[in-house]
This record gives sequence, C-alpha cells and structure tokens, in this order.
Amino acid sequence: MTEKRYNSFSEELKREFGCRVHRISVDAGFTCPNRDGTVGRSGCIYCGGEGSGSFGIARGLSVTEQIEHGKEVMVRKYKAQKFIAYFQPYSNTYAPVERLRLLYDEALAVRDVVGLIVGTRPDCLPPETLDLLADYARSTYFWLELGLQSPLDKTLEFINRGHDFAAFTAAVKGCRERGIRLCAHVILGLPGETREEMLATAGILNDFRVDGVKVHLLHVMKETPLAELYRRGAVRVMERDDYVGLVCDFLGRLDPAICVQRLTGDGGRDHLVAPLWSLAKFEVLNAVDVELERRGTRQGSQLQK
Ligand code: SF4
Repeated sequence: MTEKRYNSFSEELKREFGCRVHRISVDAGFTCPNRDGTVGRSGCIYCGGEGSGSFGIARGLSVTEQIEHGKEVMVRKYKAQKFIAYFQPYSNTYAPVERLRLLYDEALAVRDVVGLIVGTRPDCLPPETLDLLADYARSTYFWLELGLQSPLDKTLEFINRGHDFAAFTAAVKGCRERGIRLCAHVILGLPGETREEMLATAGILNDFRVDGVKVHLLHVMKETPLAELYRRGAVRVMERDDYVGLVCDFLGRLDPAICVQRLTGDGGRDHLVAPLWSLAKFEVLNAVDVELERRGTRQGSQLQK
C-alpha cells in the first residue's frame, strides 16, 4: 500500500502500538439529551433514532460480551492483535460519573483491550465528567470524540443539534485544560452551507488544535426528518466527484498534525436513502488518494508556511 497523503489513524495506531489494533464498537445503553426530552425529542434531523451502530444492548449483551464477540470477528477477519473499545452510539458520557467509570473499567479489563474511545456531544461534559476522562487520558490510550458537525450556528439550528458552537468551544477548552485527546466530527454537505463555509471548518479545527478529525458525508437515512426534506426536494446530497474534490481541498487546509480518522460516512445499506454511491466506501477513499496524487497535494499543503 502506498503512503497516505494525510495523517491517517491506522498509521497513528501503528506508531503507538507497533501491531494491528482494531476498534470494537460498544453499545452501553446510553441515550441522548436531544432524544430523551432534556434538550429535545426529535433529535438531529439526520439521526435514525436508534443511534448509529446501536446493537449490543438490543441483544442483551454486556460490555464484556460485546467486546469478546467483536474480538473473535476482528481476529478472524483482520488478524487483529490488540483492541480499542469504542463507546459509539448515542452520547457515551450522558450518565453519572460512577456509572461511566464502571462501564469504561469493564471495557479496559477485557484481555488485549489497550485503550478507549468515547463519543459524545459537547453538552454532555460537566466538569466532573471531564475530570474522570482526564484520569483515563493519563492511564490509558484515550480519545474523546466530540460532535461539532458544523461551526455555524445557523446550520446547527437547521439540523436541530440542540446546542450551539459556543458549547463546542467550552468543551474543547475543558479537554485542553485536562490533556484529553480530542477528535472532532464534522459533516460536509450540510444544507445551506457554501463550499467556502465548509472549507473554513478546517481552519477552525486548526485554531482549536484538535488532535483528530472524522469527516462525514451528509447521509440521508430512512425515517428521519432529513429524508422527508430530501423527498420534497428541499435538500440535496453531494455527487461523488464533488465530495472527493471537497475532501481534498479540506485536507489541504488542515494542519498536518491533526490525525484524520475518517473521510467518509458509514450509512448502512438497509437504512440509507442517499447518496447511494457512498456505500462503496473504499472506492471513495481510493478516489481521494488518486485525486491527491493527481493534484500533487497533501494534508496541510494549502496552508501558508
Ligand atoms: S446527538 Fe447523536 S444520538 Fe443525539 S440526536 Fe444527534 S445524532 Fe442522534
């Protein structure tokens, strides 16, 4: 495989552990303040309601059982040697600190689990929770994943995020003060945003000195408010070539120190309405590699020296 023209997460893991490390998604049964009525009930307009990757709790599996099952699959498929428990669906800090500690410790107690990734919203990080996460940041390989999606309040309002950009700013500050490694999620192709506005997000991530980024493509999933808007023609999705070009420009403006953990989304075949081209995820990633090569650009190459 040729060297990536961006600072990929697989390279980061290889540097850190020197062996094959894979993430295993864990559903610990959390909910979300934008679903349970604390902030809202209808959720973000693109959210399918069951939370992406929600599977374990529905089958009645404990955290340990989910990880053990995931390990078997990863060893068989990828010959993985070490694992990171990824608390993924919904808001995985949305519970009292004592419960969080029990769940995270349970994951870390499984053999060959060498780290934790915890995904959440900026408004689910009170100081006592940040202090707890800082303990893990000191004692294990730890990432906090934080949904930004867009830095524009007009967009956050349109997509019904239930928090504003200031909430993200405050959460980043809390993480920085405590040495918590932070990965921001952003969505490209959100309704009402210009290309320049989307690209400007890269500069904002640089300014915040986040450690990682996950770039998602806007997906329209079945039975969401976004699907209804799409059906009425009120929103559009991106064409593949436009998305690939946009991602290459985004990478060009992104600080090369930021670890790129994802460059397209993962809408499941059974639930995806559009864009269907995104199902061929590896083709999209290859197209990004080919386009960066053709342009002769790489992550950070459009930044002023
Ligand atoms: S924050 Fe996540 S789980 Fe909550 S409504 Fe939005 S997409 Fe769904």
